[in-house]
This record gives sequence, structure tokens and C-alpha cells, in this order.
Amino acid sequence: MTDLQGKVAFVTGASRGIGAAVARALSNEGVAVGLASRSGDDLGLPDALGLTCDVRRLDQVEAAVASTVTRFGRLDICVANAGVGSYHSLADTPVEHIEEMIDVNLKGTIYAIRACVPHLIASPEGDIVTLASEAGRRGLPGEAVYCASKFGQVGLTRALDHELREHGVRCSNVCPGGVATDFALADGYGRPPEVLAGMMSGDDVAAVVLFCLTRPRNHRILETALRPMTEASWG
Ligand code: NAP
Repeated sequence: MTDLQGKVAFVTGASRGIGAAVARALSNEGVAVGLASRSGDDLGLPDALGLTCDVRRLDQVEAAVASTVTRFGRLDICVANAGVGSYHSLADTPVEHIEEMIDVNLKGTIYAIRACVPHLIASPEGDIVTLASEAGRRGLPGEAVYCASKFGQVGLTRALDHELREHGVRCSNVCPGGVATDFALADGYGRPPEVLAGMMSGDDVAAVVLFCLTRPRNHRILETALRPMTEASWG
């Protein structure tokens, strides 16, 4: 096992849902956390820095990572989690939702990881975990643009594994099925509240993120797929 005590993490989309669960799980293990979201919530955690940051803005992401390193003196873990989902056919997806999904899920992930990479290389034990999705492994009906953004994240993280392995930085895609969060519940985004019954919790996903991060340093988890028992595996 890798002991996380004393490490420093940067988590995007940390104000609620999966990101908040990951932040709490890391904090429980003694990790200091920079918590980035538009609301800048620090979740009231010890050794946490709430950072107001829109991941669509490279300057804001770079400033948030810099603040984390200035405050805690190093950076070992990047959890690229911020994301939005709008579930519609391609023709029915509003253009502003297309832009939001590509900008937040894909460009926001690229920006967050890019800003963290120099610090992760400098760390003796760097880790990147990307919160992708089952929608990044399979084409799913009624969520074409979301799938496109998630396939992009998966491809990015797989490519980074080649780029960063020689620097001792591990790269993992975590690909959940349905998780009961606010995600895609907003008006017009397409996931009705009743579908949340039976879904996994943010804590379920956080436990998998922790599993990846705590593996002994002689190996890495490239990709994990987890699905609620109420959801089929689609072959
Ligand atoms: P959530 O509960 O809606 O939380 C999304 C988080 O992202 C919030 O903290 C939000 O904070 C932040 N965020 C959204 N837009 C942002 C922006 N432009 N800049 C910075 N932060 C932003 O969603 P979730 O279910 O936890 O989803 C987290 C990740 O898991 C996403 O990448 C999602 O695609 C993925 N995922 C979710 C599910 C699921 O069923 N829920 C399944 C598979 C994968 P602010 O509003 O404060 O900015």
C-alpha cells in the first residue's frame, strides 16, 4: 500500500457530488487538498484550500494550482473530476450544452492536468486520476456529445500514461456508471430525479479513486469500470 499521509492533492469539481466525496476521502487519509470549483467551497475540511476556479479558463486553473502549491509546498495528486452532462440526441442537444460539455469535461480536464504535470513530475510519487465515465468506454444512446467528451478524457489519460510513466507519474481513468448526484438534474439537462434510485454514491466512487492511489508504487491501475447492480453491463 502507498501511504497518502502528508501528500497534497488538487481536485476539480470538489464542491459537491463525486469530487466532494473524493476530497473528504483524501482528507481522511491525511492529504492536504486544493479544492477547485466555481463556488470555491472548502467543505470545512482541515488542511483544505477552497479555490474559486472555472476549469474552462486556463488562467484560473493555473492560478488555482499555483495557490495549492504555494499553500502546501508541493503537489502529488491531480483528480480531474469537474464535469457536466446533458443527455439528448445530437440534434436535440442545445448548442450551449455542446460547448459546455466540451469546454468543461474535455478542455477543463486538459487544462487541470496540464497545470499539475510539472509539479507531479517533481513529486517522487505523482498520480493523476481522471473521472471519466462508462460513456467514455462505450457509445451510449441519447448522450452522444457527453460520450464524445468522455472518450476524449479517456484518450487523454491513456496517452499521458505513455508520456508520464518514465517520470514515475501514474495515470488512471475511473469510469463509473450512474452515480446519485446533482449531475444532469438541472432543467433541460436530461436526467430525471427518479433514475437516481439504485445508483452508486459518490463515496462508492471515492473508494475506487482511493484504491488506485494507494496501490504499491510498482504498478498502476490504468482503468476501472464500476456499475450499479441496477444497471446492465451493455455487453
Ligand atoms: P455534480 O454533483 O454535478 O458535481 C459537479 C462538480 O463540478 C461540482 O463540484 C461543480 O461545482 C463542478 N463544476 C461544474 N462546472 C464547473 C466548471 N466550469 N468549473 C469548475 N467546476 C465545475 O457531478 P458528479 O456526478 O459529481 O460528476 C463528477 C464527474 O463524474 C463528472 O466529470 C461526471 O461526468 C463524472 N461522472 C458522473 C456520473 C454520474 O452518474 N453522476 C457517472 C459517471 C461519471 P460548481 O458548480 O461549484 O462549479
